[in-house]
Amino acid sequence: MKDSNRPSKNALYYYVAGIIIILIINTIITPMFFKPHVQEVTYTNFLKMVDEGKASKVEINQNRIALLCKDSDGKENIYVTGRVDDPELVNRLVKANVEFSQVVPREESPIAKFFNNWIFPFLLFIVIGQLIMRFLGPKLGGGGNMMSFGKSNAKVYIEAQTGKTFKDVAGQDEAKEALQEIVSFLHNPAKYNDIGATMPKGVLLVGPPGTGKTLLAKAVAGEAKVPFFSISGSEFIEMFVGMGAARVRDLFKQAQEKAPCIVFIDEIDAIGKKRDNGSFGSNDEREQTLNQLLSEMDGFDGSKGVIILAATNRPEVLDKALLRPGRFDRRVPVELPDLQGREAILKVHSHDVRMSPNVDFHTIALATSGASGAELANIVNEAALRAVRMGRREVIQEDLEESVEVVIAGAQRKGAVISPEEKKIIAYHEIGHALVAARQTESAPVHKITIIPRTSGALGYTMQVDTQEKVLMTKEELFNKIVTLTGGRSAEEVVFSKVTSGASNDIEQATKLARAMITRFGMTDEFDMVALETVNNAYLSGDTSLACAPETAARIDSAVFEVVKEAHEEARRILMSNREKLDELAAYLLKKETITGDEFMAILNGRDPEGPVTVDAEVVASEDAGQSAPQAG
Ligand code: ADP
Ligand code: MG
Ligand code: ZN
Repeated sequence: MKDSNRPSKNALYYYVAGIIIILIINTIITPMFFKPHVQEVTYTNFLKMVDEGKASKVEINQNRIALLCKDSDGKENIYVTGRVDDPELVNRLVKANVEFSQVVPREESPIAKFFNNWIFPFLLFIVIGQLIMRFLGPKLGGGGNMMSFGKSNAKVYIEAQTGKTFKDVAGQDEAKEALQEIVSFLHNPAKYNDIGATMPKGVLLVGPPGTGKTLLAKAVAGEAKVPFFSISGSEFIEMFVGMGAARVRDLFKQAQEKAPCIVFIDEIDAIGKKRDNGSFGSNDEREQTLNQLLSEMDGFDGSKGVIILAATNRPEVLDKALLRPGRFDRRVPVELPDLQGREAILKVHSHDVRMSPNVDFHTIALATSGASGAELANIVNEAALRAVRMGRREVIQEDLEESVEVVIAGAQRKGAVISPEEKKIIAYHEIGHALVAARQTESAPVHKITIIPRTSGALGYTMQVDTQEKVLMTKEELFNKIVTLTGGRSAEEVVFSKVTSGASNDIEQATKLARAMITRFGMTDEFDMVALETVNNAYLSGDTSLACAPETAARIDSAVFEVVKEAHEEARRILMSNREKLDELAAYLLKKETITGDEFMAILNGRDPEGPVTVDAEVVASEDAGQSAPQAG
């Protein structure tokens, strides 16, 4: 629809060229053909021609006189002359028997005048405006045609087009269960109406980005085999005030005609924000749109089978009126997938990818704690791309592991130039983390250590992977995590007696954790179980805001400082008492650049790391050797 409204560039060129040609014809060519031959003569000559009887017709204008005159060769010519105040002229003309007339200055009719002065310029304006809008409209964003006031651009997806079913959504069993009821209602509304049950009109899907909210909505439509109207919240907010409201009206009108059907409003927070924030940039347009949405939701009859799904990752900003019973009263959380969910999502997305039969999705799922469905889908695709790059015909475990790292830490920066001295510091730093982690009891096992820099800016990293999914963290585990985070810097101090900027990310994370332990998890005696900070938007950045007196804030700061300092000292103590292992491991890492958890543990336990290694580790090691060659050269 949008496309057909937009004139192609070619049409515009033809338009302009046409106008130019018409102008040329009008101003130059037409006069050449139609202007009669006019000659100017003096008044004396004019009188002479009249007297000689040559003139056949005279027209007297306000200040000119024209005469039609037969020349000796029989051709008719027109002569003009200036009008002279000559009272004798009329008598002369009568005497010479010339037909003459005075041209009365033409009075324009009032209607024509009105047309000329008012309507015509106005029309001209509209035409020019249209042309400009057509030309610039697509560039001004919105993509829509400004003249299509209130025409909803709601796209209609019929079942064949969404093509999604619950099978495409892995994990999210609770969400699917909650939505299953809606599917069954859409299949057979009568069953519910008979007993007197009413379906909720609106269902709100809430959760972090990339967890499959949009996908679920499509799957509901696909399962129910009903039309699917989908519009994004931001699409309602248009250039003109009132447009958004008109669109809402339009959308609901269309939907009711097509019932049973699903209306899906993605990113509803764009219009559904709280109205009372009284800030300066308060947006009238948005409020009108929201009001229209509220009244439409009240207005339509839910038993007909129109179900409104909406998705957001900022439920806390939504207007209360939107959430009250009768509107979006049902809320379906779509959380980040758990271990099983991640494994299932990986499997769903590898369905169309040729996978080596011994790929272990469980390990990958373990290593991707906290990843969303979208990220997991991306990991599988990256792995497939890597397999092609490597000239393989199927995806193997190593591809998946590498693409996990690409998604988490960015691609390898093969061209990065790092001096041997710095490389050494980085190696000690990473081994510091790993060694501290390994020497503590409540700590996840080391999975991989690398000092190949990444595009995210990481110069190296230590990957720890838990053997099982953790839902709770004890105070000890959290503290140990902080100790591990300080381990990198501690190794630099212990070995080189100097510190570098490389620990900035560790410091940030350690501080955040320590602060959370105190302000949100109630893990200090001093503040007991008092919430000192609240999380603002749990699904996005996870920002917090402090909710305490300034004096308390100062005490929190010193408590955070103490926790981190204690952890730092603990890390140094561990490293100093394991100094030999630290040197040995760092030297090995420096040589290999990437080592596995197995190799790490072997050295730590005094075994030969090169001995009975797994097949995977061998591949990783040899590949890294290849990559380090260009850096050396
Ligand atoms: P959201 O709307 O929650 O931000 P989307 O529904 O747009 O996320 O998900 C983006 C993509 O991530 C989907 O197209 C799909 O490929 C993948 N995805 C996310 N969650 C899942 C899931 N549970 N199962 C399968 N694929 C998923
Ligand atoms: Mg979405
Ligand atoms: Zn570090």
